[in-house]
Amino acid sequence: MNKITTWSKLALVGLTAATLVACGGSEEKATAQVEKKAEIINWKMVTTWPKNFPGLGTGAENLAKNITEMSGGRLNVKVYAAGELVPPLEVFDAVSRGTAEMGHSAAYYWKGKAPAAQFFTAVPFGLTAQEINSWIYHGGGMKLWEEVYEPFNLIPLTAGNTGVQMGGWFNKEINSVDDFQGLKMRMPGLGGEVLKKTGGIPVNLPGGEIFTALQTGTIDATEWVGPYNDLAFGLYKAAKYYYYPGWHEPGSSMESMVNKTAFDALPKDLQLIVRSAARQATQDMLDEFTALNNDALKTLVEEHNVQLRPFPKDVLQALKVSSQETLEELAASDEMSAKVYASFKDFREKVSAWHSISERAYINARDGD
Ligand code: CA
Repeated sequence: MNKITTWSKLALVGLTAATLVACGGSEEKATAQVEKKAEIINWKMVTTWPKNFPGLGTGAENLAKNITEMSGGRLNVKVYAAGELVPPLEVFDAVSRGTAEMGHSAAYYWKGKAPAAQFFTAVPFGLTAQEINSWIYHGGGMKLWEEVYEPFNLIPLTAGNTGVQMGGWFNKEINSVDDFQGLKMRMPGLGGEVLKKTGGIPVNLPGGEIFTALQTGTIDATEWVGPYNDLAFGLYKAAKYYYYPGWHEPGSSMESMVNKTAFDALPKDLQLIVRSAARQATQDMLDEFTALNNDALKTLVEEHNVQLRPFPKDVLQALKVSSQETLEELAASDEMSAKVYASFKDFREKVSAWHSISERAYINARDGD
């Protein structure tokens, strides 16, 4: 699984001699140093994203590059875009069985294997980026996520966050919940379940297939990410109305799962580098999206005449009620989901109380009437 390349014996002998001359130390110590340096571990990272796709694909590339550089080249990570080594939605299986040592994706794609995984990407009317990271790293979420992935021989890490997404692209106005009746909309994860409960038909498609599906009418509507990514996909060419807010994905956490056998075989310093680089990638993607969404939204509205629309209040209220029911049903159907939901719910209640008098109060004070 780990491909360990060792320098040729000849090179080792030459270097050992050179090191001895340079250091003047014991032969034993120098040999040990050289042998340690000689180990180069090559990892493959498979991803769900098209090659160099803004934000998500480049986020995976940056993570791989940072691990390689932080380790001084000792852990060399090569990225494979969607379809290059495995199809986009087979990342989980590929890393689980060790075809690749690492993956970059989003946990909600694996609901068929582990329903509780959905809590670690996005929950409708759930946690924002700041809140989900707080729950995962300081609120007990990570321990639960590790428990969910343990049967698959995987270690989960966060590796990006989109921030609050947009509600999606529609070719008709959404004036009441009835407008969701029979609507075929690309929407993965729990949001898709809520859509179904509201009368819509959720479709799960990888990013690379969305534009064509919407343009040819295979689907009536789609959500994807936010202005930055949606502009890059040209979704404005296939739909007219752009709705907000993304009630279904209020701060989607990207993941980097690691094959546990491969991770356990790493020396401690490389393990810490992998974890630290993933944590850095988590914040970096959010920062990038926050900075670029502003400009992309302006371009969509001013240059491409996109019609920006808020979901009506009663529509959001109905979706919130359906979301609550969906989560209760999920918890009732699966033991692990019930365990994760209990922790998630408790955290959401506490953070809502705090953020209503901090983040929300401040933003209202700054930007309100
Ligand atoms: Ca989305």
